[in-house]
Amino acid sequence: MITIALSKGRIFEETKPLLAAAGIVPNEDPETSRKLIIGTNHEDVRLIIVRASDVPTYVRYGAADMGIAGKDVLDEQDLQGVYQPLDLQIARCKMMVAVREGFDYQACLRSGARLKVATKYVKTARQHFAAKGMHVDLIKLYGSMELAPLVGLADAIVDLVSTGGTLKANHLVAVEHVADVSSYLVVNQASFKLNKNLIQPMMDAFAQAVKNRSNA
Ligand code: ADP
Ligand code: MG
Repeated sequence: MITIALSKGRIFEETKPLLAAAGIVPNEDPETSRKLIIGTNHEDVRLIIVRASDVPTYVRYGAADMGIAGKDVLDEQDLQGVYQPLDLQIARCKMMVAVREGFDYQACLRSGARLKVATKYVKTARQHFAAKGMHVDLIKLYGSMELAPLVGLADAIVDLVSTGGTLKANHLVAVEHVADVSSYLVVNQASFKLNKNLIQPMMDAFAQAVKNRSNA
């Protein structure tokens, strides 16, 4: 039995065609089902539905053999014993630094002022600002980062941006690119060795589907 850890929402929706390419069709839709373990048409494959940021944990400890998680989430975690063999090129967005409209970020950089930065992505943000030689105070949040600069919790945020609609609605502007983000296949190294006969063909089918789509 192979267990694949996935999160609901855009990652599940964009993973469905990849699963289909590997001949795997879920028995239920996690968006409407309350079940957290979902069988498939393939008797040796099941899905578990977990929070996006919990996917690497299930895979790392072998409770899931494989999973799909955003690069944003993966870069924050200790991935000992986990392969990241394939960029699935789904759930694509950018990690950006954003500030309030009118806030002069460039002047801050020039003056070397110490910035307060709120983010869910503390490790990635710390590396980003350290590489630029900037001194920042990082404030860990778990969501709704856009609020922080509006109420004076922080000068800037590091968050994911796709259309920019949420930033705009909150009078924020993106001022710096941190990283391109997409979701990756992750595989527990030990279960890969044990279940190579099941996992390898699935990985090959995913890789082929990603390739076909990028050529389409
Ligand atoms: P949660 O609410 O549990 O933090 P989300 O459903 O918001 O998780 O995001 C899950 C994953 O989807 C993120 O880890 C990221 O990789 C990706 N993602 C988040 N926001 C966007 C976006 N605006 N566009 C594309 N992908 C995104
Ligand atoms: Mg969310």
